[in-house]
Amino acid sequence: MLDDLEGRCACAAVRYRLTSRPMFVHCCHCRDCQRQTGSAFVLNALIETDRVTLLSGNPEPVAVPTDSGRPHAIHRCPSCGVAVWSVYGGVRKLLFVRVGTLDDPGALKPDVHIYVRSKLPWVALPEGTPSFEAYYDSRKLWPPASLERRRAIFGETA
Ligand SMILES: [Zn+2]
Ligand SMILES: [Zn+2]
Repeated sequence: MLDDLEGRCACAAVRYRLTSRPMFVHCCHCRDCQRQTGSAFVLNALIETDRVTLLSGNPEPVAVPTDSGRPHAIHRCPSCGVAVWSVYGGVRKLLFVRVGTLDDPGALKPDVHIYVRSKLPWVALPEGTPSFEAYYDSRKLWPPASLERRRAIFGETA
């Protein structure tokens, strides 16, 4: 598709394409994300793994400790070490793609701000975008088409 989004790591060994828009985009202000990125927050595009086409390279999963104890693997370029996406909770059908690695990172904007309880004080949140002290209920926030896609991954009970 013409508007397919593509991205890469710093050295360009890893290149990928998103074959559709993501289901939802998180801006996460939690301490884990701040530490892992060395920045104020992370931008994650939530998308089905089978909608991410690897054009080159092979990101390697690196397990990181979490407060919750649930597994979190950050997938990094083996050459330059840049993180291109994460797998949370061992759910391999779902990727959290780092929006800043897109060729056009402005193409996706956050649908929600989460864990704003640890937001850095100088970060001003935009009017009109929902924000939560911690996590949120996706059933109340995601558009129906995205919830449908989510159910295809997690099953009807999710
Ligand atoms: Zn690289
Ligand atoms: Zn986070």
